[in-house]
Amino acid sequence: MKVTDHLKNAENPLFSFEILPPLKGKSIQSIFDGIDPLMDFDPKFINVTYHREEYIYKERDQGLLEKIAIRKRPGTVGICAAIMNKYQVDAVPHLICGGFSKEETENALIDLQFLGIDNVLALRGDSIKTESSFKPHPKGHQYAVELIDQISEMNMGKYLIEDIKLEPTDFCIGAAGYPEKHFEAMNLSTDLEFLKKKVEAGAEYIVTQMFFDNQKFFNFVDACRAAGIEVPIIPGLKPIKSMNHISFLPKFFHIDYPEVLSKELLKCKSNADVEQLGIEWGIEQSKELKEFGVPCIHYYTMSNSSSVKAIAKEIF
Ligand code: FAD
Repeated sequence: MKVTDHLKNAENPLFSFEILPPLKGKSIQSIFDGIDPLMDFDPKFINVTYHREEYIYKERDQGLLEKIAIRKRPGTVGICAAIMNKYQVDAVPHLICGGFSKEETENALIDLQFLGIDNVLALRGDSIKTESSFKPHPKGHQYAVELIDQISEMNMGKYLIEDIKLEPTDFCIGAAGYPEKHFEAMNLSTDLEFLKKKVEAGAEYIVTQMFFDNQKFFNFVDACRAAGIEVPIIPGLKPIKSMNHISFLPKFFHIDYPEVLSKELLKCKSNADVEQLGIEWGIEQSKELKEFGVPCIHYYTMSNSSSVKAIAKEIF
């Protein structure tokens, strides 16, 4: 079932969460171990992130360097199929532009359609470590809007090789939004302009980057509505969990902690202190978002579901 249908049918805000494929070498059981504790809260969909290949250079004869692609994690398509099969819950694969030619994107979408997976979160992806800024695949997409265009075309039966008549796909497409603005955007209003283009291209709902200040989310929703973006906006929440997160989350995700939270974080002496604070903060944020009337709250587990479970117990 499509994410948008789940949202339409919901009487109360829904619970959903995101998982990361494990590092290579682990089995599908490691995914199930992360999902099992959260199944009591009746998630309507589970997102599975996609991670690009990285490259290393190996020295060969005569001083030559060979560029070798390293795949760190198993693929998202197979994981989504396994989740849907085991839990009968919809899985939402993340599909990114980075590293994909249009043909590879089409092939991934054909596999998803074949497996009965009718949801996709369409993203650009970030630059890889060896690049200073995002470089699209030479035969791929520069921005998420182009990927959304490609999926929308397939939804109309238009594949890359036009003279072959094929069945249209029927994907429900989600897109990313940034209450604190995407870090490359010139300002929030250009970011919203491009977000609107993603909706016009076919994105039917938006999932936000994590944020810790609900007011920023409320302002973002207002700004989206004022800009004519009418689709459902799902807030994304991440419980802070360790001392390392205190600086890692703002650095990696380009978000700020509100002052009240930062003061409390400075008092933490251990991972356990941060984890407890993260849970309490997540509960308060979730309560307020529910009151605001969000259609769903989406939690980032980042491979660890215990804090999300503690929050969900109080909220759902
Ligand atoms: P875009 O919408 O393409 O925007 C990227 C930047 O370009 C923005 O600054 C935007 O303002 C600007 N822009 C957009 N269109 C244009 C245009 N036509 N001309 C000029 N500027 C333009 N990354 C992963 O690698 N894997 C994942 O699984 C993953 N999951 C995510 C899930 C969520 C909910 C979110 C919020 C992010 C996720 N990301 C993931 C990170 C995401 O890929 C990065 O934030 C990336 O830098 C931007 O992706 P986007 O889809 O928002 O890009």
